[in-house]
Amino acid sequence: MEIVRFNEFCKILNTDYNRLNSNLYRFNFALKSFNNSPYECGCGKTHYLNEHHTEMRWHGKPLPIVGNIEEMIIQDCKTDCSFINYVKNKGFYFYKYKTIYSAKLPKSYIDSNFGNTDLTSKDEIKKKYKDIAKFYNNYKFYEYYKKGSKKLIISSQIQKQFIGIINLDKDLENLSNNLSNEPYRVLLVGIITFKFMSVKQMNRVHKDMTKIYDIGKVLKFEKKLMIALENLLDGNLGDFENF
Ligand SMILES: [Zn+2]
Repeated sequence: MEIVRFNEFCKILNTDYNRLNSNLYRFNFALKSFNNSPYECGCGKTHYLNEHHTEMRWHGKPLPIVGNIEEMIIQDCKTDCSFINYVKNKGFYFYKYKTIYSAKLPKSYIDSNFGNTDLTSKDEIKKKYKDIAKFYNNYKFYEYYKKGSKKLIISSQIQKQFIGIINLDKDLENLSNNLSNEPYRVLLVGIITFKFMSVKQMNRVHKDMTKIYDIGKVLKFEKKLMIALENLLDGNLGDFENF
């Protein structure tokens, strides 16, 4: 770990005070999965990553398949620590963060809002997570073709579920907008971490959605549904089946 001045810290990491202090990364459910991993801090103490007392100021892109967050800028808000740390994951199966740079925050920064997480919003987000999980958990797997024929059946139940898919995309989009534009994948990892749904169920649902998407491409399903499916099955985030 290298202790540097705050200005230097910002320069090396190509950031600035305003960006670090914006609300964008204030709260991140991914922290829950970090499971109290320790990290060294410039203040001389070892802190532990935890959703309740770690302030996330920035994080790198999550890894495509597993959703691991490999680098972040964090601060401990349990102790009276005034250092900010840039940490990188060195673990493979488990998170094991190594502090690369640490900097003391200038006093004027500490006196402002730095280090203040709004706890009520956490409960609100949790509630939204539960609602999203509910859709996945109640998802029905239909036969889209009549047995032994190529005739498509789109019953009223199936139509209802299609509307549900469009709404799911909307819900995830809203949540993402509130959480620093987190990719859906990261939000879903959060939902799984809280055990609101299982990885298996998520994969089953996404597999079925892929099926719908393929049929829809041939038969030209409603654009709204196709866009929702594209967002939910975002190919840029890797193959969901390998999750
Ligand atoms: Zn510290």
